[in-house]
Amino acid sequence: MSEQKGKKIVVFGSIVQDLISYTERFPRPGESVRGDSFQLGAGGKGANQAVAAARLGVDVSIIAMVGDDIFGESNIKSLRDQGVDVSSIGVSTKTHTATATITVTREAENSIVVTLGANMELVSDVADSHETTIADASIIVCQGEIPEIANRRAFEIAKKHGVTTFLNPAPGDPKMDKSILELTDILCTNENEAEFLTGISPDTPENGEKAILRMLEMGPKHAIITLGPKGCLLASKGHQPKLIPGKHVEAVDTTGAGDCFCGSLAALLLKGVAIDESTRIAANLASLSVTRKGTQSSYWRLDEIRRHHPNLLPSTF
Ligand code: ADP
Repeated sequence: MSEQKGKKIVVFGSIVQDLISYTERFPRPGESVRGDSFQLGAGGKGANQAVAAARLGVDVSIIAMVGDDIFGESNIKSLRDQGVDVSSIGVSTKTHTATATITVTREAENSIVVTLGANMELVSDVADSHETTIADASIIVCQGEIPEIANRRAFEIAKKHGVTTFLNPAPGDPKMDKSILELTDILCTNENEAEFLTGISPDTPENGEKAILRMLEMGPKHAIITLGPKGCLLASKGHQPKLIPGKHVEAVDTTGAGDCFCGSLAALLLKGVAIDESTRIAANLASLSVTRKGTQSSYWRLDEIRRHHPNLLPSTF
């Protein structure tokens, strides 16, 4: 990361209104089940990752699109309230703010239907019109909930200005154009996304190694596969893959754990923490997030982390 740059993260990504039902079990096709409770939540992988980074006290801005509706308004307010710079969020008059209808069972499993709405208007031209914001950042973080060609354009701009590129190609798309990986410095997936990218399911330690080494061959300097409660695998060019164990916790809701991991990892890297240590701490922070309900609301704040886990973060935080 360049020393001259402002120490900032820019997220180029999605904003989604979460509509979360908590229920005993998933309904079968054609069946209605009665939910235990309901909650609205500000979400979207881009917004979640921006909030996870902001929770650690770093400067984050988000380039995103919402609809001209109540969900758009409330998501912008919520991001602003959580310390994310929202000045690069555009409002579309053509379509609605994206929504995610989430079901969380008592076993803490989730299923999600996403309607992308305004996220699909985050096109290459928007990346071009925010070139200065991208150029001013040290790290740009992209996900898979917006048009992939726009992610590619954002990374091209980032590379032109020496900005570190971080890709979380989630949710996984088997038809993804993998050429963006040549522009990617840090690639972070979960197990499903790793399988979509490599054709190898990281279901055993051997297969995990094979999958992550294949990911590295595609272009990035560092590749990470998160493995739920098992923690994550990290591989860097020229180094053997290593397993970084997760923290054993009582999981109540795993929604958004991967986003917590990515946003936290970007914040730690921004602060100059080495990749191995950043990955270990991000895995711990993601594990803490699954102990609470909700997505952004489950991410721990700096003061809470300091109070309950005083040795988790380096002194630079
Ligand atoms: P995603 O949410 O993208 O599917 P994962 O399920 O792999 O991603 O979770 C991301 C990270 O969150 C893991 O690497 C781990 O650190 C933490 N995590 C997720 N589920 C649990 C769990 N049940 N117990 C402890 N940590 C968890």
